[in-house]
Amino acid sequence: RTVDRTGEKILIMADKPQILEVAVPSPLFRRFDYRAPDDAPVKPGMRVIVPFGSRKVVGVVLALRDHSDVPPARLKTADALPDRAPVLDAELMQLLKWAAHYYHHPIGEALATALPVLLRKPEPPPVPDRQRWRLTEAGCKQLPDRLKRAVRQAQVLVELASHPQGLPRAALPAARSVLTAMEEKGWIERFETSDAPGPTPHALNTEPHPLNTAQRQAVESISASAGQYNAFLLEGVTGSGKTEVYLQAITPLLEAGQQILVLVPEIGLTPQLVERFSTRFAADIAVLHSGLNDRERLDAWRAAASGQAGIIIGTRSAIFTPLARPGLIVVDEEHDASLKQQDGFRYSARDLAVWRARQLDIPVVLGTATPSLESLFNVQQKRYRKLHLPERAGSAATPPLKILDLRGQPMRSLLSTSLLEAIREHLKNHGQVLLFLNRRGYAPVLLCHNCGWIAECRRCDARMTLHHRSGELRCHHCGSQRRAETDCPTCGNDDLLAVGEGTERIEQALQAYFPDETVLRIDRDTTRRKGSLEAALADAQSGRARILLGTQMLAKGHHFPNVTLAAILDADQGLFSADFRASERMAQLIVQVAGRAGRADKPGEVVIQTHFPEHPLLHQLIAGGYPAFAEAALKERQQALLPPFASLALLRAEATRADFPRDFLQQARELAEPLCAENVQLWGPVAAPMERRAGRYRAQLMLQADNRADLQRLLKHWVPLLEREKLARKVRWSIDVDPVDM
Ligand code: ADP
Ligand code: ZN
Ligand code: ZN
Repeated sequence: RTVDRTGEKILIMADKPQILEVAVPSPLFRRFDYRAPDDAPVKPGMRVIVPFGSRKVVGVVLALRDHSDVPPARLKTADALPDRAPVLDAELMQLLKWAAHYYHHPIGEALATALPVLLRKPEPPPVPDRQRWRLTEAGCKQLPDRLKRAVRQAQVLVELASHPQGLPRAALPAARSVLTAMEEKGWIERFETSDAPGPTPHALNTEPHPLNTAQRQAVESISASAGQYNAFLLEGVTGSGKTEVYLQAITPLLEAGQQILVLVPEIGLTPQLVERFSTRFAADIAVLHSGLNDRERLDAWRAAASGQAGIIIGTRSAIFTPLARPGLIVVDEEHDASLKQQDGFRYSARDLAVWRARQLDIPVVLGTATPSLESLFNVQQKRYRKLHLPERAGSAATPPLKILDLRGQPMRSLLSTSLLEAIREHLKNHGQVLLFLNRRGYAPVLLCHNCGWIAECRRCDARMTLHHRSGELRCHHCGSQRRAETDCPTCGNDDLLAVGEGTERIEQALQAYFPDETVLRIDRDTTRRKGSLEAALADAQSGRARILLGTQMLAKGHHFPNVTLAAILDADQGLFSADFRASERMAQLIVQVAGRAGRADKPGEVVIQTHFPEHPLLHQLIAGGYPAFAEAALKERQQALLPPFASLALLRAEATRADFPRDFLQQARELAEPLCAENVQLWGPVAAPMERRAGRYRAQLMLQADNRADLQRLLKHWVPLLEREKLARKVRWSIDVDPVDM
């Protein structure tokens, strides 16, 4: 028996049968034993094709043993080991095993989540795509000229100009047809990269900004930690130069041949971030986003695993990307809830990033303008080190927040008279305005004026949202839609009222108030088509549209240097909610929206419309900014024994019958009670905040503990009991450790 440097057993001599302990993609928590197919050397982390039920599936070898408790007659033999080396290296296996354990998710499913789709199939995966595109001399000459005309082509030229080593198709911002057209004109050409992925030049492409003092200190702290674990919380208002800090902190690491993993909440929303990286560095950048096809995803994954890609940028699942020479992990917008996977394998990419960095002994940087209370608490506990950028970079000033008391104000469609005046003023002074409302569609309620009938979703406990232009009612919870009624189905009256406001309705009102302006609405409805978000952002940036209106999509990450007025149309939404995190989210959102205004030399103004100007949350935020709010919110959490001062887990269950989930959860509660230490509390079962969704009834049971360890101990004993419970088969159930969405 030999042991390799990671401490894993690798090869067992063949006089005894070799037993493979395999993680099979199935919702079962157990591992499965198979006889090894032949004498080929086996290592944990290798894929293995095994018979499972009536199917052949791809599993992953967890361990090797020389005996199995399965009787020899029932022990099956694995079919094949398709790869010569592990696809998941020892480090990644450790991360995944830990994550499956901590989040109480079946290991087979957890491992499958980490593999690109093409590696989850028994068929051999395609060979790597070595094709790259680069500029020709003729293409170089086109550069300045093209920029004014064809946008796509110009983008391709710019992108390739900053990557003399060439780029794969997936990294280029254009469809294949565009590339072919450009190729025919002789501006760009294809070539094959060499067979073995060699080290790529990691030189700088463009000159970095000279740093201000706070930025320099941040970069120095991160650099001083190279090659050793340290978790940094990089807190800086929007525009304070966080991205510049990332860029300069990673420069020496790239030069030393190390790789940087950058996690972002949503790549579609932050095309500029990717661009900043790709224009600064000549390194190969692997971008893992949902727009890739399976093939492109596999190529990006391989580029990371081989070390060919110097920078890997991706959304939460990219935390499971193999890295040949990891040097630093960056988590941008660390407070963002979408870093937590909300179904299936419910992990927090941010928390795993910190865990992985510690395991790899490398630094991790969590950047944000509005830190999560969890991360602030970790700073207080000295687990993270805070790096602070108190001021905006360059000459931009931080805009003041102003409350606009809506009480008694004349108002149509959430546009109060004072706000309309402010908009006029800013437009007159050649500014741009940005209006934020977190509700798309035309109106959230369609009501019969005669009898009080309300259009409801047939599958959810929810109202349908009216979408005016399409004449449809849509449920924003399950996605079902139907033609909007024109007559009341109950009394036949044709006097139906659209009550309340969504972005579509506000857009219409704005257009009526400002007929000479272009109103640009950015929400999920207007950006469904591929490329439409980019086009809209370009219009916003160029100043062609001077009134910008949108949801979260508009609030996140974009730079609009000419926006001088930002307004939150309805702050009241977030002030009263059952979810204890709602106020934190609201505060973060207000600060994010505020960050869109006055970025360049133009002074900005931020207006928050509310009917509750005395609300303590708003007061803290206005008076002391986010830090004051966060301090107060942390105190509240401490008093209420909520995270980060306690650990939570949620057992959810759902079924098409209302009684099954409740019965199962009641049973689950009874199983938990004898296991509970006195500092673990059970709450529920109760109906989920929206009990029926997409035709299924949902309920939940919450576990609250003083500390993580006690909660984990309970879960460890409890989850296996749940699995065996008869009622468990009548419901869909799941455990959510550290839930962010109650
Ligand atoms: P953040 O990521 O915090 O929003 P960025 O890094 O994007 O901030 O910086 C905001 C703007 O300021 C960008 O246009 C950037 O190029 C510029 N910038 C960053 N650092 C400096 C600096 N030290 N001097 C001048 N401009 C800077
Ligand atoms: Zn009616
Ligand atoms: Zn619905």
